[in-house]
Amino acid sequence: MSVRVRFAPSPTGPLHIGGVRTALYNYLFARKMGGKMLLRIEDTDQTRLVPGAQDYILEALQWIGISIDEGVGSGGELGPYVQSERKDIYARYAQELLDKGQAYYAFDTPEELDQMRKELEEAKVDNISYNAFTRMKMKNSITLPAGEVKAKLEAGEPYVIRLKVPLKDEIRFKDLVRGWVSVHSSTIDDKILMKSDGMPTYHLANIVDDHLMEITHVIRGEEWLPSAPLHILLYKAFGWQAPEFAHLPLLLKPEGNGKLSKRDGVLGDFPVFPLEWKDPVSGDISRGFREDGYYPEAVMNFLALLGWNPGNDQELMSREELIELFDIHNIQKAGARFDVNKAKWFNQQYLRKKENDVLAAELDKEIGNPALSARIVELMKDRVDFVREMKAGVPFVFEAPAEYDKEVAAKKWDDLARNAMPVITAALAEVTDFASQHIHDAIFGQLEAAGIKPGKVMQALRLAVTGEGKGPDLMLIMEILGKEETVRRIGRATEVLG
Ligand code: GLU
Repeated sequence: MSVRVRFAPSPTGPLHIGGVRTALYNYLFARKMGGKMLLRIEDTDQTRLVPGAQDYILEALQWIGISIDEGVGSGGELGPYVQSERKDIYARYAQELLDKGQAYYAFDTPEELDQMRKELEEAKVDNISYNAFTRMKMKNSITLPAGEVKAKLEAGEPYVIRLKVPLKDEIRFKDLVRGWVSVHSSTIDDKILMKSDGMPTYHLANIVDDHLMEITHVIRGEEWLPSAPLHILLYKAFGWQAPEFAHLPLLLKPEGNGKLSKRDGVLGDFPVFPLEWKDPVSGDISRGFREDGYYPEAVMNFLALLGWNPGNDQELMSREELIELFDIHNIQKAGARFDVNKAKWFNQQYLRKKENDVLAAELDKEIGNPALSARIVELMKDRVDFVREMKAGVPFVFEAPAEYDKEVAAKKWDDLARNAMPVITAALAEVTDFASQHIHDAIFGQLEAAGIKPGKVMQALRLAVTGEGKGPDLMLIMEILGKEETVRRIGRATEVLG
């Protein structure tokens, strides 16, 4: 049996980062098993469609590096892969269930349904639903004479098609993450399969498509676990073999309590969407990992570990390693805490692995001076999580300090420093090839010759050159500034700080 999995988002807005993780686990599993990854768009609830959402989903998957073998954007033999283009297929299968006596027409008006609810409430019934008991009091093709049903259908009276859930049945299935799940059919209501507008509900469309698209494993978020027993019943009603199920743990808020929401991102100042999204109605912008400067491979690695681990504490894994190590049995049951600092850490690790010239090209989009960008990368590569932080980390490369850190000045601009500055200036004057190693040797040599321990005055020198008490390699900074500018800055600090 060859594995076929699908990612089946509804285009109701931007794909949440939890949705990206679901897609990623499907993808890793498909690649690991040598199977196929499908993309299906579930848009049967036309009232919730959001313009641009489908394109956003495709772009987000592409950015992260989740490639699709079959489905929307990739084609395939078992399409169409957009549910709104499959209406007549669902109608056929609903008819099949009607013919088999596994589903029935229901003609109840909203008022009649309300009335039923009220009566059950008054009778203090716990389980208020349309089910094996209550259906017998309602207007449907089980209770009405066949002739009347026919007449109603012919007259075009509105109806829905409901699943005839058996009264006494135990539904058992083994979820690959959660283990055995067992539910009694009396807890499931006679779910609507076809709505009065002729559109299928999510449940019917989802099952029919998973069957027709030959899906072997349904890997999806935990919020769908309560629907799984109903889905199993539907497979039974059709007489089809159900796929395997794996329900993924929730992504939790950074504090670890409750589901991660869009609001958490706003409050905690971090993205919860893969790409930036502009709401087509309100115009509100939601931040994206991409626009925040994350590398897709870092996000992939970070997401892979939100709910799964390779069985040891290895954290840094390339796409190839993730595929190699991915094992559905190592997915955890417990919710996974979303920690944006961990995401930043992954980005930092991937940034450090990049070649300097790649980083310099990226930085130069902001700087517009390739030689200078290359130098800044040398200074900052080991000190940032994102390339976008590099320029802000070296203001002194662009301008002489306008002021000097007061605390550092009070502590370090002492008599020793005052005596050292002319020695340093003299040392610099003698350096012909103004490169960091020569600068270092000259300064240290002269200071020691003058009986000054270099370590004691380095912070004062940094203060003079950059205005700050700490920062990247000082010798390299002086090299980048050049001899003249460095000497000028030392002179100016001596004047200002006295
Ligand atoms: N359309 C559903 C969603 O948006 C898919 C659920 C499933 O994977 O079965 O999450």
